[in-house]
Amino acid sequence: MQRPVRTRYAPSPTGFQHIGGIRTALYCYLFTRKNNGSFVLRIEDTDVARFVPGAEQYIIDALNWCGITCDEGVHVGGAYGPYRQSDRKEIYRRYVQQLLDTGHAYYAFDTQEDLEAMRESLKLKDLPTAQYNYNPVTRMHMHNSLTLPPKEVQELLQSGQPFVVRFKIPDNETVTVNDLIRGEVSVHTHEMDDKVLLKSDGMPTYHLANVVDDHLMEITHVIRGEEWLPSTPLHVLLYRAFGWTDTMPNFAHVPLMLKPDGKGKLSKRDADRLGFTVFPLAYKHPLQDEQATGFREMGFLPDAFVNMLALFGWHPEGEKEIFSMQELVEAFSVERIGKSGAKFDFDKAKWFNQQYIKHTPDEQLAELIRPFAPDDLKNTPAPYLTGVCALMKERVTFLPDFWTQGHFFFAAPAVYDEKTVQKKWNAKTAAYFTQLTDRLCQLPQFTAVVIEQEVKTAMQEHQMGMGDVLPLLRIMLAGTISGPPVFDMAALLGTDEVNNRLSKGLTAFDAIVQPA
Ligand code: GLU
Repeated sequence: MQRPVRTRYAPSPTGFQHIGGIRTALYCYLFTRKNNGSFVLRIEDTDVARFVPGAEQYIIDALNWCGITCDEGVHVGGAYGPYRQSDRKEIYRRYVQQLLDTGHAYYAFDTQEDLEAMRESLKLKDLPTAQYNYNPVTRMHMHNSLTLPPKEVQELLQSGQPFVVRFKIPDNETVTVNDLIRGEVSVHTHEMDDKVLLKSDGMPTYHLANVVDDHLMEITHVIRGEEWLPSTPLHVLLYRAFGWTDTMPNFAHVPLMLKPDGKGKLSKRDADRLGFTVFPLAYKHPLQDEQATGFREMGFLPDAFVNMLALFGWHPEGEKEIFSMQELVEAFSVERIGKSGAKFDFDKAKWFNQQYIKHTPDEQLAELIRPFAPDDLKNTPAPYLTGVCALMKERVTFLPDFWTQGHFFFAAPAVYDEKTVQKKWNAKTAAYFTQLTDRLCQLPQFTAVVIEQEVKTAMQEHQMGMGDVLPLLRIMLAGTISGPPVFDMAALLGTDEVNNRLSKGLTAFDAIVQPA
């Protein structure tokens, strides 16, 4: 019988989630929505020593920003909780006991020194490194419940002697994982070791907690980063030891996100060096001197971010590149995730953002750019901001660019393109602009079409060409010759502001051409 699809994203709050992690979450989410399943957020916080305060909330905020909604999880609850592993310790103990009772696991009392000594003695024998560890041969020479008499084991346990519980790896077997992306991956148990399942602090290890939770939460598809592929044969053996093979999830290991040159895993260091970020949201590490900006703070639209992230590693059929979340859901399939790592390309990320900005309605953009406003412009009226967005949206890359590149919409220019002024400003143009200033003031309507007409009529009367006048008009209004269409810009600025800027320009240009 086909079980309802259930997937999970299971990050560890040991740091701030890199975009690679968010991409994994996105793939899980797309797959789940496509199959009308349930998507779970589980927090794997069994590594107490590496816990970073704030990292869990960061994950929730990042998923929310992306529009990746969870059906169950630490923040929304659900029928399979608790969803934080530190709240499930008792559950793991029960399952560890099951493995101990069925002979698939054993207590080990070795000290650090014992383990070191074992490794040293094995090194002398020139064995492959994988065999320096606890395994079917070495375990019989160590202090554990397989080698010590049962009475002694009981005494040690009762005396409070520190112990771990290890998995008893079967000897001489090949374990095969059928990965939905990688195909068949086989490993011989000689290359595996007796991994710790329960640590001496009473906490389960990742392997145990992960398998128990995936089983209890009825996860059908484990979609995760490929760094976990080497652990999967152990997980398969754990499912078998528990007697859960019938409901073992399908596995799909997503290849890494690579540096732009394709040489190795994309890291914060690359991002810092190349001037971009690998984090969805900005953060400041609470324990270390470390911080980073995020795609959100750089001024990416969440839909653009999601679209670009989906396409780094997953290849839709056909040439289409712009996908809404709903379209991604419809088009997604795990089989079309590439087998090799995807090179990160920040220019492509920028391209996606430009496309989304261009296609976002002006009113909506106006509200999206407001959080990026300088303090004194936070209350700019919405209709005016909407107008700015309409004129600038084709020219910007990031949301803050509306304020920085469109500064002339919010303040008269403080500097002018002097080179052009020097070339074009003379007695004739001065006479033209003096008259134009008066004429514009008297216009009954101040729309782009009307302004254009007036500027052109005046041009004819003064026998001047576009090239004599328009660059200067532009510089008076904006300080530079680049920018949105000049008549639209003038109409948005309004009669009074245009009048002020032209008057100011007349004086300033004279001063530029004839320095005192
Ligand atoms: N807690 C693991 C991590 O931090 C999850 C691996 C998995 O999805 O199984 O990536």
